[in-house]
Amino acid sequence: MIPDAFSATEEREWIDHMLARLQKREARDGRASDDALRDRAVRLARRYYPEHPECARPQSVRWVDNQQRRWGSCTPSDGSIRLSRRLTMMPSWVIDYVLLHELAHLVHHDHSRPFWDMVGRYTKAERARGYLEGIADAEASDPR
Ligand SMILES: [Zn+2]
Repeated sequence: MIPDAFSATEEREWIDHMLARLQKREARDGRASDDALRDRAVRLARRYYPEHPECARPQSVRWVDNQQRRWGSCTPSDGSIRLSRRLTMMPSWVIDYVLLHELAHLVHHDHSRPFWDMVGRYTKAERARGYLEGIADAEASDPR
């Protein structure tokens, strides 16, 4: 939508500005592709859960837009993992934590002691949990 009152020059500048923004977004989405996410999950699974080769063979790992309340989810029965696209804006060590959390659910379907022992191999697990809780708290207190 281009405001009516724009001159030709302003219109040109506006279009250039919007195109630049679009390109930036495409570049970002490219890095945040489902293929890249799956590769990352497989690498993490091989490194942290070598005794569970099934973790390195998830059926699908993808970004989803419809997950507002949860950062990630896993369906162990079909081996699919979904991460909220909101995570693309967060540090990579936080994304790695969410991936390792969901990958561990392919082995343990609950939040039992053995589950947390697995996740705890990732040294930044506690820090990442604190980071995500902080964001959830900030959002909960946001009047919007
Ligand atoms: Zn969980």
